[in-house]
Order: sequence, then C-alpha cells, then structure tokens
Amino acid sequence: MTEPAVVARLAQDVTSGLEPGRLADFYQDLHRHPELSFQEHRTAAKLALRLRAAGFEVTEGVARTGVVGVLVNGDGPVVWLRGDMDALPVREATGLPYASTVDGLMHACGHDLHVTWLGAAAESLAAAREAWSGTLVVVGQPAEEAGGGAAAMVADGVHTRFPRPDVLFGQHAAPGLAGFYPHTPGLTLSASDDVDVVVHGVGGHGSRPESTVDPVVTAAYVVTRLQTVVAREIAAREPVVLTVGSFHAGTSSNIIPAEARLTLNVRTQDTRVRERVLAAIGRVVEGECAAAGCPVPPEITVHPGCPNTVNDAALDGEIAAVHRELFGEHTVFDFGQALGSEDFSLLAPAGVPYDFWYVTSTPAPLWEAAPGEELREKFEGVPGNHSPLFAPDLSVLVPGVRTLVSAALSRLTG
Ligand code: ZN
Ligand code: ZN
Repeated sequence: MTEPAVVARLAQDVTSGLEPGRLADFYQDLHRHPELSFQEHRTAAKLALRLRAAGFEVTEGVARTGVVGVLVNGDGPVVWLRGDMDALPVREATGLPYASTVDGLMHACGHDLHVTWLGAAAESLAAAREAWSGTLVVVGQPAEEAGGGAAAMVADGVHTRFPRPDVLFGQHAAPGLAGFYPHTPGLTLSASDDVDVVVHGVGGHGSRPESTVDPVVTAAYVVTRLQTVVAREIAAREPVVLTVGSFHAGTSSNIIPAEARLTLNVRTQDTRVRERVLAAIGRVVEGECAAAGCPVPPEITVHPGCPNTVNDAALDGEIAAVHRELFGEHTVFDFGQALGSEDFSLLAPAGVPYDFWYVTSTPAPLWEAAPGEELREKFEGVPGNHSPLFAPDLSVLVPGVRTLVSAALSRLTG
C-alpha cells in the first residue's frame, strides 16, 4: 500500500472541489423523503442519476431497489464502496427545517448521510480518474434495516454480474461528538437473529378460565423465564442480548384468546453461544407451554439475520492510519465491539477482506449538554441511531466523503 500520508494528501486533493452547500442540499432532500426497506425508489434513482452523470455504468433494480455503479479505469484491484439507503418507521421529533415530510417515517439511522457520502465519493473519484487505476464499484444497498438487502443483492447475482471485489468498504454514522472516526480491528458488530413464537392455548369466556388454556399467562411466563437465559445459562464474559420486542394477544377484556405471539431478537458474537441461546429459547417456550397444558405445541421460527461483522485487522489498521493522517491522530480510536448488527459483510464474498468504520455525528452543543464527564456517559446521553431525535451535524458531510475516497485510493494507487 502507498504511504498513509501520501494517500491522505491525494484524497485531500481529489475532494478539494467538494461543495458543502451542494452536499447539504442533496442530504436534506433525502432526509425529507425517507423510504422504507425495498421501497427506496426515489433514493435509488437520485443516486443512479449522480453515478451516471459521473461516468459510471449504472444498473438499477438489483434486488428490487439496489443500485450498482461500475467505473473501469485501467488495471488494478476492484474496490467496492457500499452505502445503505433505507429509512425507518420512526416518527421524527427533531424539529429540523428539513425534517421528514412522510408521517411516521424517518431517516433515523443516517442512511441518508451514507447515500450522500457514497454519491459524492463516487463523483470525486470519477473526476480524478487520472490519479488512480483499477475498478471502482459503488453499491447502493436496499433494506439494511428490515434485513435481507445484502443477501438479496447476492442472490440477484451482485458477485457475478459485476466485477468481483478484492476489497469492500463501508461506514456508518454514529453518536458521539462529530469529527471522530472510530475503527475496530476484528469483530466490530454482532450477529443478530429473530425468533417468532406462537403459543397455542384454548380460547373462551373471561369468566370461565377453567375451560381454557390461557395463552396470555403462558406467554407472560415465557417472557419472564427468557430473562434467565442470558443471566443464568451464559458465562458473564460472553456478550449476549435477548430482547422480547413484541407481545400480541387478545382483543377484549372478557375473552381469553386462543393464541399469543411473541417476537424475539438475539444478539451474539460466538457461534456456540448463539446455538446455546437458540436452544434455550426452544426449551423455555416448549417447557412453559407443556406446563400450562397447551393442546398444541408452540411454533418457534428462527429467522437467521446478520452474521458477525469482522474487519480484516491488517486492512483496518491501514485505513485507520490513512484516516489519522487526514483528520489528526486523536480522531481515530477503537470503539470496541458493539451488539449492533449489519448485513454489510454479506456483500464480501468468502475470504475477501472488508473494513467498516464509523463517523461520529452528534452536534457539539448537544454533546456538551449531555450529562457526565466521560465519553461513555455522554455517549449514553445523546440521541443514538433509531432515535426520533437522531440529527447528525452537517459538519460531517465533507469528512464522510473523504473517509471513503481515501480508503478507495489506498487500494487504487501504488
Ligand atoms: Zn439502523
Ligand atoms: Zn444503519
């Protein structure tokens, strides 16, 4: 790889023409018009338009709403840059002048920033193509939030229809005082799985519970007993989260319903731990249903979600060094492993190294007003991803383009 300082200087040159006002217009427009997973039609069209104008060969409709732009520019490695495009069913409460215009829908995870960064990085690199050699592939991914977007792109032939990556890069907006670029070598994000549970009881009149098997009570026992899985069955050193995110049963106070439905989310970092947690969920649900005398066994459906995101440590070290040169030694540090999840890594074919880092985006006044002295305390006090108050600072627009451009250049030069 070319010296980090040289790459950083080149990235600075390549992005010197970035216009913050133009970036802000593009970003605010996306923020006003959020779209749910696999419905990112407008967002995808805007990205495709920019890529085409910059000289990329663009394919739309990959995995329904995905966009792939390819720029072949001489011999050299194939570098993929990925940004996800979808928003969330969250009602925005930021009060921003460019807040969402769609009721109940919001870019609360910063994917509007990701698309803005990606489009501008693609433009910058295309405009400076005499400065590098290789193939640049820009991937606008649908449906990261609902899950399945990256997998759908792979199923739709993203690895065979387009130049196969030698390396894959991605980044995520994160809470924390704007202007930091956390990098974690190795495992950075955790595996996530969803589990659906249906408890089958026997319905009847609310006044005659003796003639029913009450699925509300049974499911309530399931919920409380599930709290012992992490606490009592998994070693304290293993990071695990088990959350019951929804509980639906019944229609009226005087009717005992016939069934109850639960949805669970499981975050783990180790395959054996994951298997043990999933097995424990099965045992607890079946055990509680048997104890209640349910006439039919419960239905338990596991929906495998994202795998762990494990950065190639050497690659991450190199990109972190470039980002230090760009933004200053103190701006890059290791966040540590998170129990959040991403399907980003699925876009890397087996054995292909990837790196996924973060761009902190909390506005300085908000950060300063957050309680606490230490980073971690303050971190908990500012709106994070998926919060209706998540409002990245516009000062991150240009740096988030530079992080991507410099990562790409580190592979496409020398
Ligand atoms: Zn998210
Ligand atoms: Zn996200």
